[in-house]
Amino acid sequence: MANNEKPRQKFPLKPRKNNKSNPLALVFFVIISIFFASFFLRPSTPAVQTIPYSTFTHFLDQKNILKVKIIDDRTIEGSLKDGTPLLFRTFIPYQDSTLLAKLMENDIAVEGGSANNPFWRILLELVPWIIGFGFIYYMMRSAPGSGKAFQFGKSKAKKYEDNGKKITFADVAGQKDAKYELEEVVAFLKDPERFTRMGAKIPKGVLLVGMPGTGKTLMARAVAGEANVAYFHMSGSDFVEMFVGVGASRVRDLFEQGRKNAPCIIFIDELDAVGRTRGAGYGGGHDEREQTLNQLLVEMDGFDAGAKDSVIILAATNRPDVLDPALLRPGRFDRQVVVAMPDVKEREQIFRIHAKKVQLANEIDFDKLARAAPGMSGAEIANLVNEAALFAARRQGDTVTMGDFEEARDKIVMGVARTSLAISEKERKMTAIHESGHALLHYYLENADPLHKVTIVPHGRALGMAMSLPESDSYSRTKGWIEDRIVICYGGWAAEMLLYKETTTGTKQDIQQATEMARHMVCEWGMDEDMGPVAYGQEDEPIFVGREIARHKDYSEETAKNLDAAVKKILDRTKERAQAILVEHQTELEKLADELMTKETLSDEDVKALLNIK
Ligand code: ADP
Ligand code: MG
Ligand code: ZN
Repeated sequence: MANNEKPRQKFPLKPRKNNKSNPLALVFFVIISIFFASFFLRPSTPAVQTIPYSTFTHFLDQKNILKVKIIDDRTIEGSLKDGTPLLFRTFIPYQDSTLLAKLMENDIAVEGGSANNPFWRILLELVPWIIGFGFIYYMMRSAPGSGKAFQFGKSKAKKYEDNGKKITFADVAGQKDAKYELEEVVAFLKDPERFTRMGAKIPKGVLLVGMPGTGKTLMARAVAGEANVAYFHMSGSDFVEMFVGVGASRVRDLFEQGRKNAPCIIFIDELDAVGRTRGAGYGGGHDEREQTLNQLLVEMDGFDAGAKDSVIILAATNRPDVLDPALLRPGRFDRQVVVAMPDVKEREQIFRIHAKKVQLANEIDFDKLARAAPGMSGAEIANLVNEAALFAARRQGDTVTMGDFEEARDKIVMGVARTSLAISEKERKMTAIHESGHALLHYYLENADPLHKVTIVPHGRALGMAMSLPESDSYSRTKGWIEDRIVICYGGWAAEMLLYKETTTGTKQDIQQATEMARHMVCEWGMDEDMGPVAYGQEDEPIFVGREIARHKDYSEETAKNLDAAVKKILDRTKERAQAILVEHQTELEKLADELMTKETLSDEDVKALLNIK
């Protein structure tokens, strides 16, 4: 059911190097075991006390010595009759050839031999070293990203090998322009000679640029699938490690692998993680990043764009603006392909592609789904379809219905429905009035989008919601549309005023939105007659003056007052329009609110039927 499996599941990957156990690990293990064994198994030797030779001769004179062991001609160990100390050792300061005779004379048992367990002593001295090396070894093994010990510099590039489930352009909905540009790359990889014969140079580096979730990663895989070549995937952040130099050697290794496997595609996802402008480092550690980036530049130059190394480097980023200009120079990532946000038609196709993976009911209106998901990226749509399937599973349905999609969308847009939230009848009524105010205005404003639905089921932090359903995507808006939008914002407030003579805190968001839009109208969009088409208070990049940040202000105090007045004027005007419409249609407003109280959610059709609106 679940549709948005992780790419990895779709592309089971084979690690390039087999993971045989490391011989070093074995050695390490053996040493550690010897250490522990020695620790527990070593014979318990009483402590040996070193005494001066004079003391020794003193003991000898006192006949206190029980027995001695002659280690060499300068060292003697032995024990005393009174047992204090239990064992002693003494060093003979001169060669005393008579000592042995003296000992024998005194009936002391004499034996020859070696010092007490030198093996264990040596081992004990080694222990700190063994532990030290062991620790370093352990660190290296567990260092993030290094698959095996002493393999820091190896790239972690994953070579995907499809098992018959290849991703192709057919799996990517829409993106006509991007596909068109990438076709050329595919053609080159399939038959490099066709291009080189004519002396044509194919770009080595293609940068996919687009918002998160628009399908850049998907697209890169599709290119590899179409061309049917090996595909190495690595994310920019994989290069960046805490050890300086690791990133650079990973880059080297990645490109080496690429060359060996040509023709192939090397894909560097999230390029901005390594490719940020040099010198503009944020905090520590940017040395490492710069080295990595430099290596990347060097490797890219090292490639021959001819047929010899038919390797294409794809990269993806959603921040092309922060990339180091050197990366974008001709001969490197000199071609940019925009992976755009889907429009309504494309959203429909994305819905269709992902809906194939779930059991659908018959009545699914994909066009409506797409229209009700404005501004959603491919990834968000994939997620929405999955949520819908989850809703269907939760209610133990056999198929995913339009209702499941609605619920999934509401959850994503507004938060989880809180059906269990205990709301008093009075509060529900007020919410119904408020939302009816918003909803009703949709029918009496010329430029407003049609209503999609209105609900008093609380979602997330909102107690209710009136949603509109744009007929198509718009990339620019008229002044009329925006003003009507503000009027709708005031619908909730005006309805509360009309029926209760006071308002609630539920209007906060509406008022914020209205004010924001009015301010944009005046200051940026030049939609106010008095202030004219002038941009006021552009948010500039901060300018550094010495160590101070200066924000330049581009209008006077007087203008500031005028701007505020202009914003207020728009808000007053729109608020009054909302009030006027609701006063005129008060009976409808109350009827709608009552219906909402019983039904909780009403669609556009429901409202039209209720109020006899054509
Ligand atoms: P990006 O790399 O741009 O952030 P991804 O390629 O990771 O986005 O997209 C995430 C998921 O969204 C994909 O795995 C796919 O399921 C879905 N998706 C995004 N765009 C599309 C599209 N145009 N067609 C089909 N599925 C898409
Ligand atoms: Mg991605
Ligand atoms: Zn509201």
